Amino acid sequence: MNLILLGPPGAGKGTQAKMLEEDFGMKQLSTGDMLRSEVKAGTKLGAQAKEIMDRGDLLPDDIIIGMIASRIDQPDCAAGVIFDGFPRTVAQAEALGRMLADKGRPLASVIELVVNEDELITRLNKRVAETKAAGKEVRSDDNEETLRSRLKVFREQTAPITPYYEKAGLLRRIDGMMPIDAVKGEIRSILKGRQSRASAG
Ligand code: ADP
Repeated sequence: MNLILLGPPGAGKGTQAKMLEEDFGMKQLSTGDMLRSEVKAGTKLGAQAKEIMDRGDLLPDDIIIGMIASRIDQPDCAAGVIFDGFPRTVAQAEALGRMLADKGRPLASVIELVVNEDELITRLNKRVAETKAAGKEVRSDDNEETLRSRLKVFREQTAPITPYYEKAGLLRRIDGMMPIDAVKGEIRSILKGRQSRASAG
């Protein structure tokens, strides 16, 4: 079963993806995490990515699509993937559609977590404070200025994906302002419904 989690930065996609990995045996693929690993490893891609991420912009579609294409063929993705932070443009969504169709791996659902922007800024500031308090390193794009750019990029380049999946009949919206467990419960019931429909043929 393959799933896309959509939503602005700070909507809670990563938190939910981690729980779904445990409960459904699916693999979370976060393009943001993959890029941060490249930065850490000091690769050429990492150097390019860091500059773009620090501005709050998007990496070129072909780089991201290539990264996902080679990753989803690995054995840990066989039982299903939760795409987190991908696709982020309509071109990425179209490429993913072709990739999955070629492999005969359908998309079960696209779940959008809907959260208002004031709440996203509050959550970011809270996350930064908690990270600092824990003595951990704060992400270099986790500051209010870059977040505002990330939100603008989200509105302009990522939000247009929603109607794309709505037309395909795959989109489900969840109120991301609810407590974590309530959001989790809703995602779980959507996926259970998909699972039983799939097994019914
Ligand atoms: P966020 O908390 O903003 O959702 P992510 O960890 O998903 O953060 O992504 C951080 C940054 O990585 C983005 O702002 C962007 O620069 C880059 N990035 C991640 N995924 C993609 C993608 N699918 N396409 C292009 N750029 C991406």
